[in-house]
Amino acid sequence: MGDEATHSRVDTVYRDALVWDSHAGVYPDPRTDLAGLENWRQAGISFVSLNVVYDIPTWETAFPVLAAYRRYIESNLDRYLMVDTTDDVKRAKREGKLAVAFDLEGMCALNGDLDMVSLFHRLGVRQALFAYNLNNEVGGGCHDEDIGLTEFGRTVVQEMNRVGMIVDCSHSAYRTTMEAMDISTDPVVFSHSNPKAVWHHDRNITDDQIRACAATGGVVGVTGLGIFLGANDSSTGTMVEHACYLAELVGPEHVGIGLDHIFDDLDLTEELSARPDYWPPGQGYDTPNINGAQPGQIYEICDQLLTRGFSDTEVTGILGGNFLRVAHQVWG
Ligand SMILES: [Zn+2]
Repeated sequence: MGDEATHSRVDTVYRDALVWDSHAGVYPDPRTDLAGLENWRQAGISFVSLNVVYDIPTWETAFPVLAAYRRYIESNLDRYLMVDTTDDVKRAKREGKLAVAFDLEGMCALNGDLDMVSLFHRLGVRQALFAYNLNNEVGGGCHDEDIGLTEFGRTVVQEMNRVGMIVDCSHSAYRTTMEAMDISTDPVVFSHSNPKAVWHHDRNITDDQIRACAATGGVVGVTGLGIFLGANDSSTGTMVEHACYLAELVGPEHVGIGLDHIFDDLDLTEELSARPDYWPPGQGYDTPNINGAQPGQIYEICDQLLTRGFSDTEVTGILGGNFLRVAHQVWG
């Protein structure tokens, strides 16, 4: 690079793109200070999905978290807005704001009750994944015995399709994901999962899963945690390698970004070592100082994809247009 015309092309493409981060790793706690959302907004990102609970805390945790996060956003409308439909995300882009929706990282949050799906939807949850690493009453987790989607899990997929919530297969086991993609009538995503063919990790996904996701019209979000990308490698170049692999396998229109970025001051070392059942040994979770990609790296991803020969339209899709397309179809 260094050529001025190329630089202005990167700037133009990035400025015009609607940038979408399909999953942040912000710790779901009502005491979490959301001032760190500025990391996204100042990087020119228009949408981020924040998880409000995962399978380890009690399921009721979601409610004080939703209450606190909603109040924070509604008290800072000069910078943020709550998402109802994709029109809100487009408005955020126009106004230089960050649109926020919520997701569930595991369906223990439903407490076995199908009626919870539409309640969570009413509270701003627009995406949910089945099982956080270990099996639950909905299906199988990626670090557990590979059970399929349960009977209850099947009804949950139908209910998500009905209310307009994105079905997310990240963290779940192979069979559960394949069965969910088979029965969902809407596009299905992997909000934050990398291809196993590029870096072998049990959290990453096979070519079969990637093809099945694309066949639903869905998107795979390249995730920025160093242990899922390589040997604790969260460099932009490595993220781009994962993105290029996906694009070659199923087409750039099925590739997106789900950074799983956490606020800089958060140290999860204790959390991870306290639950070796959810974060098992031999999977790199005990790596000291696990690296994570920063929101500002999405500009560099844009730059490198253009350098590698992707068209402006393809790059715009990867930066956010592809997830926007899915959200538009699912949320209505
Ligand atoms: Zn995750």
